[in-house]
Amino acid sequence: MADSPLFASKKCPVCLQWSTWQQQPDDRCEHCGNLLDPQAEKSAIAREELANQKMPSVILMEISPDDGPVKRFFKTIVRGGQLAFAAILSFIMWVVAAVAG
Ligand SMILES: [Zn+2]
Repeated sequence: MADSPLFASKKCPVCLQWSTWQQQPDDRCEHCGNLLDPQAEKSAIAREELANQKMPSVILMEISPDDGPVKRFFKTIVRGGQLAFAAILSFIMWVVAAVAG
């Protein structure tokens, strides 16, 4: 039973009793209902957040509220160009991934 990958058991970090563990980050203790592997859930959330972060390498130009109207106008154009560039770049990456995959 210990060799089965689906029905492993894990010692609960809260009540210290053994509980069946399906190696999922949201598995809970049979005895007290606490998470068997709180670290795994944390890292799963971190991974999800990382995946949701789009184009972290693209640094957008900041428009500060005390900029004059002309400065703001040009900054908005530059920003639009940066966004278009990022969109084209992600499209190329998508095509490359689709062709390679
Ligand atoms: Zn427990």
